[in-house]
Amino acid sequence: MTKVDTIILLVLLLALNISLISFLLVLMINMYFRNRREIQKRKKREAELEAELKIREKRIGDIVKSDNERFNYLNSVFTAMANGIVLVKSTGKPVFLNHVGRKFLKVDKSVFFEKNLAGKKDFYRRVIRHCIKTYDTRQAETFDHQEEGKTYRITCIPVYDRYERKRCLGVMADITDLTSLKQMEEARQEFVANVSHEFRTPMTLIAGYVETLAMWEDLDRENKKKCLEVISYETKRLERLVQELLDLSRLDQSPGQDKNLSYVDIKGVVNKIFWSLSGLADERQISLESDIKTKPDVLKSNEQFFYQMLFNLVENGIIYNREKGYVRVSAWNDDSHIYIKVKDNGLGMNENEHTRIFERFYRIEKDRNSKHGGNGIGLSIVDMAVRRMDGKISLESEIQKGSEFTISIPLQAIK
Ligand code: ADP
Repeated sequence: MTKVDTIILLVLLLALNISLISFLLVLMINMYFRNRREIQKRKKREAELEAELKIREKRIGDIVKSDNERFNYLNSVFTAMANGIVLVKSTGKPVFLNHVGRKFLKVDKSVFFEKNLAGKKDFYRRVIRHCIKTYDTRQAETFDHQEEGKTYRITCIPVYDRYERKRCLGVMADITDLTSLKQMEEARQEFVANVSHEFRTPMTLIAGYVETLAMWEDLDRENKKKCLEVISYETKRLERLVQELLDLSRLDQSPGQDKNLSYVDIKGVVNKIFWSLSGLADERQISLESDIKTKPDVLKSNEQFFYQMLFNLVENGIIYNREKGYVRVSAWNDDSHIYIKVKDNGLGMNENEHTRIFERFYRIEKDRNSKHGGNGIGLSIVDMAVRRMDGKISLESEIQKGSEFTISIPLQAIK
């Protein structure tokens, strides 16, 4: 190979190298720009994803917040409820118990972590057993439970998924304390029975004597007189009974309905009562005495209730007394209360009667009352009137020695 050939070969090789290097350079530059574009694209995508993530995070935050609010709201509703609420899973495991539910069932929050019912009170076990049964049958059921003098009504209802209607999530037991309702119902039934009984006796007597009077021609003067006397006496008894029942119902009404509240003229009321009862007192030779030391304009109250309260006590003092006995009314006040005392030296009563006599229709021995036709309502009217004035009544009494009723009424609490 000549020198020229060698030079040409070298030049060719150099040119080949240069073009190879140029090609590689172009390739690298191309790759560089493509990578840069790719990176930029990815960064943009990442920024977009981040923004979307933030929006979603906010949305989830909002949902959680509103869920928490809703949960708090539901929790306050369940806490404020007078009923006990228990939510139970299919297995009988409790998932929620409101405060009242825990109180009724005598359990604490540890029930959520316990595996079985061992050691739990009967009531709780019974509720859980009924919940499991309700879950299995998918039938709501109601039962009553009695414990320690209280009556509860429990209703178990299956709870279904909101979105998947057929899916039963568990059972809710709703527990109502029926005790006071039951007591009210019993008291109402007893009251109706008592009233009917009280009406029946005088009405039967009146009907019987009216029938006898129908044979007017055959009756002598003596028998006619007796019939009319009985009818008149029993009619008055009925009248008195109706009046006392009306008084009771007036006192039963809510205090907000007291309209004519003004200062009670205590001395005036006592004088009026003494005047009304003077005939009865004279008949039995009972002296009526008073010692009123209250300041004027000290007691603001419903004068009619005050009058009824005192009238019944004085009247009883006369009736359940002996001949030539006395009934003494005294009254005085301090800065906070007014005190009224009605004392007699009559028949008195045993200590075991002291609270019972304030019950409606309660009488001591029936023959004590038969002479004046008492219905056993007088002292329950007194008791209600005293309570209506936020006051208290106490009694000291001894058989054959006499009775002393003391009433205290707070001066500022008069409704
Ligand atoms: P009644 O209208 O039958 O008199 P009350 O409610 O006024 O009914 O009285 C209930 C019972 O209390 C009466 O049966 C009577 O025996 C007894 N009682 C009430 N006040 C007196 C009193 N001052 N002394 C003795 N017993 C009384």
